[in-house]
Amino acid sequence: MTTDHARAADSAHEGTIAYVSMEFGLENGMNTYNGGLGILAGDVVRGFADLGVDAVGVTLLNDEGLGEQFLDDDGTQHTEPAPWPVAEFCDPLDATTSVDIGPETVEVGAWRYDVTSEFGDTVPVIMLDTDREENSEWARDLTKRVYAPGRDKRFQLAAELVLGIGGVRMLDELGYDVGTYHMNEGHASFLTLELLDRADLDAEAVREQCVFTTHTPVAAAHEEFHYDLLGELAGDLVPLDTVREHSAEGMVHTTRLALNLSRYVNGVAKRHQEVSREMFPDHAEAIDAVTNGAHVPTWVGDHVASLFDEHLRNWRRFPTKLQHATLIDREDIWTAHREEKAELIEYVADRQSVDLDPDVLTLGFARRAVPYKRAPLLFEDVDRLREVVARAGDLQVVYAGKAFPGDDLGGEIIREIHRYADELDEEIPITYLEDYDMEMGAKLTAGVDVWLNNPRRPREASGTSGMKAAFNGVPQFSTVDGWWVEGHIEGETGWAIGPDPHTAREQRMTDAREDLVDATALYDTLEADILPTYYDDHERWTAIMQNAIAFNGSRYHARRMIEEYLADAYDPA
Ligand SMILES: *Cc1c(COP(=O)(O)O)cnc(C)c1O
Repeated sequence: MTTDHARAADSAHEGTIAYVSMEFGLENGMNTYNGGLGILAGDVVRGFADLGVDAVGVTLLNDEGLGEQFLDDDGTQHTEPAPWPVAEFCDPLDATTSVDIGPETVEVGAWRYDVTSEFGDTVPVIMLDTDREENSEWARDLTKRVYAPGRDKRFQLAAELVLGIGGVRMLDELGYDVGTYHMNEGHASFLTLELLDRADLDAEAVREQCVFTTHTPVAAAHEEFHYDLLGELAGDLVPLDTVREHSAEGMVHTTRLALNLSRYVNGVAKRHQEVSREMFPDHAEAIDAVTNGAHVPTWVGDHVASLFDEHLRNWRRFPTKLQHATLIDREDIWTAHREEKAELIEYVADRQSVDLDPDVLTLGFARRAVPYKRAPLLFEDVDRLREVVARAGDLQVVYAGKAFPGDDLGGEIIREIHRYADELDEEIPITYLEDYDMEMGAKLTAGVDVWLNNPRRPREASGTSGMKAAFNGVPQFSTVDGWWVEGHIEGETGWAIGPDPHTAREQRMTDAREDLVDATALYDTLEADILPTYYDDHERWTAIMQNAIAFNGSRYHARRMIEEYLADAYDPA
């Protein structure tokens, strides 16, 4: 029995899984992530470590960090460089490799960061570093800051060549026997060039080694580069005609390159699978879905964790046990939540000198400030919002989220929230927290009462912050998009905003129409259900919290995600 079991585990996949991602959310002090994509990559490697999967992460060092956000009184964003102390978190590695980029041979070094599970396994993340004396100034910058503002396509392509080609070569130098390269988003797809070169351009041999996860539900957002540029920077490695054959005619399309050269492809939620199939009909059959999961031990607040410790033996290791939250006394869940809320209130007071009221229903919203996430949707009709609150009960709202530096539309969104905060000062306390990061994400998703999410459909590929909220018994109130399409049970695990995705699509609404329809639905549900339940039906409210843990938390976690990857993606049999 034991040996069979051990063999089954061993044969799950051959060789090490190399998970390659432009960004990783590893620790709060390491400012190496930009947003959801990086946080997901971090939760994937944390999940690998928990399960003892033979894996290694690969990324760029990003040592300049992604910028600290400061906000003026009117919400105007300033971004300061936020370098992080690499040597405090990572060990330098002796190995070096190089990548020819244009006329220059770029030397690549690396650092190792260890992701260690509390169950004893470690997954290293190899962080590539071109900041070496041998390199030109231009090349030294390549690994310093992912998606740096003001950088041109040439720089971006070069950075991705370092990640893909340099990454494969570095793993070789370090002695890894890689069985599967997992490309997390198209940025990693240039690793196929190195693999094609090694396989004498045999695409089938490359396909056998590659797995690809796409994250982008917006056709125009898939990254492309001119063939001339690729020819200029990396033309010697693989003939451009071969790249063209495996990518697209007009431009190098990173997603198509990865789609064509992977044995397994997935979207990050069932709805995202549908959207991706429509976007890439020639790959429709091949595109599977592995719905994202967040790493439970990382995202559960201390007070909720103590409650789980009392009732759910080994829940950190086996988060499906969150299902048994149905047997925990609801009043105990409420008490733990009140403690999380008190911590959030203290955190907000410390950071921003704002006093939130522990007895008032608190909505939380933390997202990148981009138009499709519609941070100001709550204020679509301010008079209606005033009426809702006057009739159904008080509300306070906490916002967070950065605009991309230099993104005027994003910056304007943050100012807009500030204007509404001023306008509603007397009626609805609204706070915008500066500098959203992992710590703040954890505090917010544990401490607010309802997690708000209202993107335009179908732009949310999955979303993971609502999963973090669910672990903590915080129900989500969201557009039915991303993971919420499958996770949401109306009035049981949270609430929908607006029509389901298929109805919404059949109606072919304009953006303005969709905003109006969704805002109306938002006000209706707040007024008719969320506020009255919170204030007047404590039994039902705590039942919803319990269901969020039991029916969403028990499923949308990293362990389930990794087990699906093992079963569907990594075992080629
Ligand atoms: C969880 C998290 C995200 C991703 O959440 P979404 O639901 O995809 O928006 C982004 N940034 C931080 C800091 C997070 O903690």
